[in-house]
This record gives sequence, C-alpha cells and structure tokens, in this order.
Amino acid sequence: MDKSKQYYFKNKLLQEKNRILKLVEDMKRNEITDMYEEMADELSTFDNHPGDIASIRSDLERGAYQKENEHRMLRKIEDAIHSIEEGKYGRCANCGQSISEERLEVIPYARTCVGCKES
Ligand SMILES: [Zn+2]
Repeated sequence: MDKSKQYYFKNKLLQEKNRILKLVEDMKRNEITDMYEEMADELSTFDNHPGDIASIRSDLERGAYQKENEHRMLRKIEDAIHSIEEGKYGRCANCGQSISEERLEVIPYARTCVGCKES
C-alpha cells in the first residue's frame, strides 16, 4: 500500500476514533447507565414490578454491552493506527495476505481478509 493510501486510511481511522470518543463522552454526560442502575436499585426493593425490573435490567445490559463494544472498537482502531505506523497496515493477521482496499474502506480497522473474517 502506498504512502498516500496509508495516510488516507489513517485519517479515516482517526475520524472514526473521534466519533466513538464523542459517543462515549455523550453517554457519560447523559449518565444513562448510572441512571438505570439507580432505578434498578430502587425497583429491586419492590416485589410487585417484576416486568419493570426485567425491562430496566435489559436496558442496563444493553448500555453495558454498548460501552464494552465501543471500547473494543477503540482498541481495534488504536491497533490499526499503530500498524500503519509500523508499515504493517492492511495485512491479514491470520494468513498474511493483503486485505482488499474495498474491505478497508468499509472496515478500516479490519485485521483479517475476507477469507479469514471472524464470524
Ligand atoms: Zn486472511
């Protein structure tokens, strides 16, 4: 991959990183997960609202899952940026073949080629 392409994908990764950081920030500001935790605590003292508790629990789990998902994504992006700096970007971590630019265009932090794609 030539330098200008590397530069292009690096920019793309940095943009994606900023987008996710902003999302995480927004989530923190809204304190969605904290609010649900408080509500779940409050509700757990009542036995007559099992439905409410269940729905709040699932919201809570969704929030936690999303947060984890975003952190995992950030890690992947960091790794990809690192690999650009090392000149290893765009190579499949599994078979060593180069990952197609079409795939990197869609998933700039992809670590494997289409053939080795984690399912
Ligand atoms: Zn591969």
